[in-house]
Amino acid sequence: MSDALPALLMHKISQVVEQLSSAVVTYEQNLILANSLGAEDMVLADLLSRHLPEIPQFVLDTGRLPEETLSLLAKMAERYPKAVIEVYYPESSAVESYVRHYGINGFYTSQSLRKTCCSVRKLEPLKRALKGRKAWITGLRREQSVTRDTVAFSAWDDANGLQKLNPLADWSLDEVWAYIHHFDVPYNALHDQHYPSIGCAPCTRAISVGEDLRAGRWWWENSETRECGLHAATPLPIRQKP
Ligand code: SF4
Repeated sequence: MSDALPALLMHKISQVVEQLSSAVVTYEQNLILANSLGAEDMVLADLLSRHLPEIPQFVLDTGRLPEETLSLLAKMAERYPKAVIEVYYPESSAVESYVRHYGINGFYTSQSLRKTCCSVRKLEPLKRALKGRKAWITGLRREQSVTRDTVAFSAWDDANGLQKLNPLADWSLDEVWAYIHHFDVPYNALHDQHYPSIGCAPCTRAISVGEDLRAGRWWWENSETRECGLHAATPLPIRQKP
């Protein structure tokens, strides 16, 4: 464990634990963390292991994840042996159909085909992961991109029909990394190679100094459209408690 954390970050950590503890009371076992294996979600996974190990997590393995992300998934299972981590995969018949019609990298052809691929490999598995749940937890932060600057701590997710909790909404990137280093949390090796945001291997690249944190995701598209649909719902007004 490194030097003491700043008082403001300690306060934010307490707020996250408070919000999620309250959510456990409200939603009981119908609450789950969507763990993308990004830096923010590793903070949340570590916080759950320390304070709320009863909250399960799910990972969407799209079949196109970088090797470094899969290595982190294996490392996570070792580091947090009591964590309940469910891994969801796309329907093989849907992937086969997509590749048959559009090619293995058809997503580069148009935004429509990119969104179709995300739908097959991410959105359909997400629906299964959230089925029967009353709330899900994500690591979204407002400063991540122009598509996320109004993220609420808690909001109704109309697209998926359940409450969505974003306890790190007001965290800065520095605070995320201060937490990771302080508690020696495992993280994706690509983060050390200028990949602040990591998705599927063919749709993610390193960014340059000064670029938006999500500039390496679907870099060939307009910055206003760079979401896969997992977090497409329009945010409602900010509330502190679930
Ligand atoms: S990020 Fe790329 S490879 Fe992954 S599901 Fe979306 S379009 Fe397909």
